[in-house]
Amino acid sequence: MTIELKFKAQQIRKDMTNNHLKNTHSAKAEFYLKLLTGLRKKRRKAALLSFLKQPFTIKIITCIIIAASTILSEAQEPVDTITMKPLELRELTPEETAVIKYKGTEGPFSGIYYMHSASGTYTCKQCGAPLYRSKDKFDAQCGWPSFDDEIEGAVKRVTDADGRRTEIVCKKCGAHLGHVFVGEGFTPKNTRHCVNSISLLFIPDETE
Ligand SMILES: [Zn+2]
Repeated sequence: MTIELKFKAQQIRKDMTNNHLKNTHSAKAEFYLKLLTGLRKKRRKAALLSFLKQPFTIKIITCIIIAASTILSEAQEPVDTITMKPLELRELTPEETAVIKYKGTEGPFSGIYYMHSASGTYTCKQCGAPLYRSKDKFDAQCGWPSFDDEIEGAVKRVTDADGRRTEIVCKKCGAHLGHVFVGEGFTPKNTRHCVNSISLLFIPDETE
């Protein structure tokens, strides 16, 4: 196991100890579930190998928890995380789903808004919430649309599973947008929201 994997495992074990769940089968199954779903591809392999060495009971309980959580998450109605009211979400294409729901990344220089410079507002593809203004867009020559500011309160920051990068999601519906980087010095605001075009829908200003 890598040092980071050991660190992650220690953290999860610590959480489990705090919850007095340390020695139960279901807690151990939860532990492996967190490892298998929370890590990046390379480290997931190490976690999977370790999981396969576990007793049959642990494997079965882990599978039951995965099945139950999948059924529950699909049964849940989407909710506006700000107002907690039911949300009407746009139906996504498989390509949009891969990025917006499963946190994929579109190819560099491929998105429709990379070189887009019209005046208007970039909204969330899934729920329509306004996220970015064209005045905050700049050319970072990185292959993805870049903004040095968001519409206040529209974007939520989440630390990636690897603890290195900061993911950005739509605060209203949780759609994956991309990542945010600070301290690169591109603009006076020293911030770059690196956003997948496919997560956005541009609405031009009415005057145009
Ligand atoms: Zn949204």
